[in-house]
Amino acid sequence: METGTGIDARYAASAEQIERAKRSLAGGVATAMRATQRPVPLVIDHGEGSHLFDIDGNSYIDYVIGFGPMLLGHSPEAIIEAVSEQIRRGFTYGAQHRLEAEVAERIVEIVPCAELVCFSTTGSEAVQAALRIARATTGRPKVVKFEGHYHGWLDPMLASTPGIPPAAAEQPSPLEPVPATPGQGDLSGVLVARWNDPEELSRILEEHGDEVAAVIMEPIASNGGLIPPAPGYLEAARELTRAAGTMLIFDEVVTGFRVALGGAQERYSVTPDLAIYGKAIAAGMPLSAVAGTREAMEIVADGRLAHLGTFNCTPPAAAAAVAALDIYRERSPGLYEDLEKVAATLAVGLAEAADEAGVPLKTHQVGPLLQMFILDPQTEVTSYADTAGADPDRLALFSELMLARGVIVLPRGWWFISTAHSAADVEATLEAARGALTELAEKT
Ligand code: PLP
Repeated sequence: METGTGIDARYAASAEQIERAKRSLAGGVATAMRATQRPVPLVIDHGEGSHLFDIDGNSYIDYVIGFGPMLLGHSPEAIIEAVSEQIRRGFTYGAQHRLEAEVAERIVEIVPCAELVCFSTTGSEAVQAALRIARATTGRPKVVKFEGHYHGWLDPMLASTPGIPPAAAEQPSPLEPVPATPGQGDLSGVLVARWNDPEELSRILEEHGDEVAAVIMEPIASNGGLIPPAPGYLEAARELTRAAGTMLIFDEVVTGFRVALGGAQERYSVTPDLAIYGKAIAAGMPLSAVAGTREAMEIVADGRLAHLGTFNCTPPAAAAAVAALDIYRERSPGLYEDLEKVAATLAVGLAEAADEAGVPLKTHQVGPLLQMFILDPQTEVTSYADTAGADPDRLALFSELMLARGVIVLPRGWWFISTAHSAADVEATLEAARGALTELAEKT
């Protein structure tokens, strides 16, 4: 059944609410990414465990988990308790509180590169702090980033991000940075490299090294296809940056506390100078951090670098982070092994379902992260350019067909698994996927 707007009646209240919001809220959503949900951006009433409940009364198994923060599922009791207790004592003081050091101490204990920490509120801001630290420490102006990696929405990092078609194979590197939005500032300080190509990184650093303050990367290219580092690549990047006097920055906003307790740097045993955390650090409360070696963070510690923010490490966010980090640590390694098992079961089940339905499906899975491509499963995907042959429209339709069956998956096929996802959820999800893939094969 459809509403007057052509939207299925089961989403009528969401569609109506989005129309209402559009009259005062630009675009009807609070962050552009959420506008991509089809057939309509859902309006949520509440979340509990692995499920979201929309204002039409539909319930869904949720594999977006807030775009990653809700690693412990929605509304986890331990975090609610910690935040509720703190919030009665004040929201923000404009002064210090004990919990700041308690969060920082935990990060220093957990994260290999962390000797000192500073806090921001969002991942994008923490990226800016890390870049400023690198530029100020080295006295160099430029940054190398990788095609298809995402480091938040701020200038000049929103260039050559996922969603932008990859550069032609014959384009020499560094690649031309491609802005993802009008209104981006000057991109001349950004050099774009291809992921997983140590020779190319070596050449770029040889030619431009004295101008390059930092090489920043998602150590697993999570946003642009969940592409892990090739064996030896992170080690090569570590050596090359050290030799060039350039800082190595791991953006662990996605991977931090998720692909291992100590993030990608623990998983791959490569230690950067600086690392950036957000999302899962406070299990859904807004908090981000830059962690680094004492040497790399010295310029913050001695007060030379301006690192500011009214909301940096508010007491409720800090309370959530202390509780979340304690849960991750106390339940490690079992928590990470279990997450990995759930994700692997989903990956295998999806591949089987696609095979049966005759849909070409390739999956990548690392820890509790999963990426689907509608692409010949034999295709090797080791850099962003390799994703060019995938079919984003069919993938988006798959996501819409899953939604109709009570499962939320991002239209770009990127799944986040939480500790709340049960064996029953996995079974129900795979049942939905069998139906959705069969319908996809019939429709396209
Ligand atoms: N870095 C990475 C790897 C991310 O995935 C994101 C957000 O998705 C960010 C940085 C920016 O974080 P935020 O959206 O909290 O600003």
